Amino acid sequence: MSDVVKSIQAFTLTLPRDVPYLGSARPGEEPNSKGYLVRKGNKTVYPTFDRSILVKIETKNGIVGWGETYGLVAPGVVGELIKDLLADFAIGRDPSDPRAIYDDLYDLMRVRGYTGGFYVDALCSIDIALWDIAGKIAKSSVVDLLGGAKHDRIPAYISGLPKNTIEERVALAKYWQDRGFNAFKFATPVADDGPVSEIAALRAALGPDAKIAADLHWNQTAEASLALISGMSAHNLWFAEAPVRTEEIASLEKVSHATNCLIAVGEEWRTHYDMLHRIERCKIAIVQPEMGHKGITNFMRIGALAEERGIDVIPHATIGAGIFLAASIQASRALKMTKFHEFQHSIFEPNRRLLVGEMDCKKGFYDPPTGFGLGVEPSPEALSVMESL
Ligand code: MG
Repeated sequence: MSDVVKSIQAFTLTLPRDVPYLGSARPGEEPNSKGYLVRKGNKTVYPTFDRSILVKIETKNGIVGWGETYGLVAPGVVGELIKDLLADFAIGRDPSDPRAIYDDLYDLMRVRGYTGGFYVDALCSIDIALWDIAGKIAKSSVVDLLGGAKHDRIPAYISGLPKNTIEERVALAKYWQDRGFNAFKFATPVADDGPVSEIAALRAALGPDAKIAADLHWNQTAEASLALISGMSAHNLWFAEAPVRTEEIASLEKVSHATNCLIAVGEEWRTHYDMLHRIERCKIAIVQPEMGHKGITNFMRIGALAEERGIDVIPHATIGAGIFLAASIQASRALKMTKFHEFQHSIFEPNRRLLVGEMDCKKGFYDPPTGFGLGVEPSPEALSVMESL
């Protein structure tokens, strides 16, 4: 063993946003004292600011790796899981084999039912940092450690049009189309004039060749979802995402077999087991692994299963500092079935100052990070505002 894990530290990184994720608060969506608001359209809580959890792992030989996971609410939960439990069982281990550490840490709480949620988020942040270190030890990028790039660049689709009116959302989509992007996704819970009107307006402005997907945010019954998908399909819907509640696999089965529209799911899953339960029964066309919830180890397992079953991979991207986005681009390049990757312009663009490294998204494509490991690390500004958990 050439090196061992010496220390693991977790931090929050909090940054103000001009406009909350998914756009301004509508009437009845006023933030509480912590700055959390609940979207009426999907009953989901969002902070009015950006917040993420970063994890720094250092080895005995002084190599530093960075990981990241969700910090939207209750970041102390992830911090405590790392401090009280996970760190002690990772310290002293060989960082060049992240899969073995991931599996051992997952096993620690498996029989008690901690097979998802905050527990796996904490585990993912450590997993990403370990892959960063493994790359640096091997003097290799993560994509090369994962078997090499299957794609030089990854096409990106514009996600989220955080504006208050349909006219403004269409104008924002046009703005990005003029900058070389021709694939888009809107969120039906904030399509105030209705999802069918939304896609009709987008289609009219963006033209017949633009790809336009809809995220249904898990808040429909199977029947309502099918009616919406049918209405939107008249405007050449690219795919329908999260059409029913995540727990209701029978509803997903029903919807997926009753429509010819491509069904996309999976951002909220934590492991490949979540995928296995669904693909046995449902006609899933696209899986959307989210690196902050899967880590590189499980992201790749989901990608392997997708390749085996002929399912496309279009990874999710969410609120973060860019560390797990870099990990996602690294892993996505290593997966044969990757077709696109989500681009959250309203997060990446204002927060790009938080990263040091060559990663960009422009003219319709991600330019992957270069260098050893993930190829990015927190900038001096990010380091100066991070708070220890
Ligand atoms: Mg989504």
